[in-house]
Amino acid sequence: MLRINIPGRKDIILKYLVLDMNGTIAIEGHISEETISQINTLAEKLEVFVLTADTFGKAREACSSINAKLVIMDPARPGGQTKAEFVEKLGAEFTAALGNGYNDRLMLKKAALGILVLEEEGCSAHSLLAADVVVRNIRDGLNLLLKPKRLVATLRD
Ligand SMILES: [Mg+2]
Repeated sequence: MLRINIPGRKDIILKYLVLDMNGTIAIEGHISEETISQINTLAEKLEVFVLTADTFGKAREACSSINAKLVIMDPARPGGQTKAEFVEKLGAEFTAALGNGYNDRLMLKKAALGILVLEEEGCSAHSLLAADVVVRNIRDGLNLLLKPKRLVATLRD
């Protein structure tokens, strides 16, 4: 559990971390050692899920050393709806979500904390408007949770 007190808002109590894979934690299906290490540190406090349509067919291998549950989505269903339903089922009020694509917009909006990652693949402008915070890259995004004071400075009223 991770409790974040932000002046002017209700405390954010996080239990879950939901991560989009491609364009967010992975670039062309590859996840850096640094990202793996950051996620595994967060996994000591939060239950972590990686959601993907597995576009590159590398998800299982890429996530093998991450302490997270890999959720491969049904490609026949719209990804945005699937991701939003997943977050709702977990408990959106206890969830931090990180994503970059158009199909992340609904989960970013529903989550207690939605973080939009720009990274090398860019991001959807729709998802950008649905997020609470926008970061340049996944390192900065995960650091907001590892060093929550940074988040407080950005979100306080
Ligand atoms: Mg993506």
